[in-house]
Amino acid sequence: MEQFTKEQKLAFLKNTVRNIPDFPIPGIQFKDVTPLFNTKEVLSTLTDILLEEYKNKGVTKVVGIESRGFIMGPIMALELGAGFVPIRKPGKLPSEVFEEEYKKEYGTDKIQIHKDSLSESDVVLIHDDLLATGGTMFAAYNLVKKMNVKKIYVNFILELEELQGRTLFPNDVDIKSLMRFSI
Ligand code: AMP
Repeated sequence: MEQFTKEQKLAFLKNTVRNIPDFPIPGIQFKDVTPLFNTKEVLSTLTDILLEEYKNKGVTKVVGIESRGFIMGPIMALELGAGFVPIRKPGKLPSEVFEEEYKKEYGTDKIQIHKDSLSESDVVLIHDDLLATGGTMFAAYNLVKKMNVKKIYVNFILELEELQGRTLFPNDVDIKSLMRFSI
């Protein structure tokens, strides 16, 4: 896709995201990002554009959120010359963890990160596939923040604008998403 402009590439990527009505429950428009990984051409275009923002930021660790943050997270880490750190649901990480609890639509949930996975000298890029209400990423942000890292960037492939997930975060947090959709 070398011959295309960035705008054309983004439009192509946006068209590649698949809308699945009523999944996993009636009333939800599920944004299926898997077609973005399906061919070398789309995957490398997505990777290049995602990385543009972070090339000169000195990122030392990419933190990916289970489970769809585990697809582009390690690819971005490799390309940026950084390490990769998983944030997982409780009971999955085998060593000592920090934990953060957050509210879901029904009840609460928890996420965990290994205590020794980040240090104060790290510049961290936290990645997930999609920003909806923002609850998951805000918990991840707070978890990483507790570890006193040097700087935190937040990144998504796509954002459901109408849910205003961004408003959960303090104004000075650098949050970027490649594509924005209304629901
Ligand atoms: P939230 O905490 O509300 O921002 O939800 C974010 C997480 O839920 C992401 O990891 C997404 O993978 C998933 N998610 C939420 N809403 C959707 C949707 N409409 N389509 C696809 N994935 C979604």
